[in-house]
Amino acid sequence: MLTRDDFRKAGLSRREAIQLGAGGLLGAAAILAGSGEAANLAAQDLQPTGPPTDPHYPMPPSWSKELRQLAPNVYAYTQGGGPNISNFGVSNPGMIAGPDYMWGIDGTQGPIPAKSYIAACKQATGKDFGRLLLTHHHGDHTAGLQFFQNAEVWSHPYCRQEVLKAIPSTPKMWSPTPGPYGKIADVVEPRKLVVPMLTFKDDMTVFVGDTEVRFMNAGPAHTWGDMMAYLPKQKILFAGDIGFFWVAPFAQNGHVSKWIETCDKILGMDVDVIVPGHGPIGGKKELNEMADYFRTLTVEARKRYDAKMTPGAAAADIRLGRFDNWIGTQLIITDTVRLYDEWNGSLTPDINTGGIREAIQEYNQIKTAQGKAAEMIPLERMESHLAHAC
Ligand SMILES: [Zn+2]
Repeated sequence: MLTRDDFRKAGLSRREAIQLGAGGLLGAAAILAGSGEAANLAAQDLQPTGPPTDPHYPMPPSWSKELRQLAPNVYAYTQGGGPNISNFGVSNPGMIAGPDYMWGIDGTQGPIPAKSYIAACKQATGKDFGRLLLTHHHGDHTAGLQFFQNAEVWSHPYCRQEVLKAIPSTPKMWSPTPGPYGKIADVVEPRKLVVPMLTFKDDMTVFVGDTEVRFMNAGPAHTWGDMMAYLPKQKILFAGDIGFFWVAPFAQNGHVSKWIETCDKILGMDVDVIVPGHGPIGGKKELNEMADYFRTLTVEARKRYDAKMTPGAAAADIRLGRFDNWIGTQLIITDTVRLYDEWNGSLTPDINTGGIREAIQEYNQIKTAQGKAAEMIPLERMESHLAHAC
């Protein structure tokens, strides 16, 4: 964790560093913390900054927070987002309405996103959620499950194992969390992680009324327990966090090379519409763009790995061209650590917390020395996630 002394050495007060670095860190914190660790920061401190954008390339579009019907009985819920103010840290869930109940895909994060999503679905169908598939264990997909009363939860066994592991470190209460990246909670209320009751590894087909839904094991990619939901007749894929559209893909538990392979497999499938875990709804074009983000990062990181640069120095040095305008690009720091771990043979399913901490500290020292304090990533905002928040 960065201390007051670290910031003093960098010529900044801790508060100045937090203010200057708020853009990057908040994006990260929203994805990372699950519990809305931004509570100590005043809203005016939270203006996004981060690395500079490149006017030669397009900026991300803005997209709405909405429940959208994609086909009869098939819906996707997108969190609103855009270049400046964004809820991209909370995932996009999906829903298939059956004759008796709704099948959900992911449980969102915390009381506010979960309750507003559930209310929108109930209004659209008049039904309750009966079952849910989790695409993976991260808190922005699972921390809202307690609000889906009595719904059965299914997942990959690795996802269940990670939810169980997170229980001891999960706070017992939700507490209010302000911030432009989307409020997670606005009152104090009890908090409880819901553990999946059915696990499976092989692909499985369920019929929700007349709708055929294939659950597909997609990992390791974003995590070692990734599942997607594919509707062959409607040509719709709920990709979970295999898909990040216009938002920097986040690989803190990931296997970047295999993630690219998974994208290639999807590009060979009969799919028209892809609902990503983060960002606006798209299709194969957007998924291929995200794979290109990783392909570009892989080439740039590999040059620096071969030149014996550390991951922190590499992340501070890399520019991604058209991808520099994506939201949350400071996250290349975790992705770079993961690529280095792949290449040096040390990659495991767990977050490399030591490696990420070290890389962020070095990255921040370099940015400070270059007079680019606005690009710093205050490590303290990532601590709860590095400590395995779910
Ligand atoms: Zn995730």
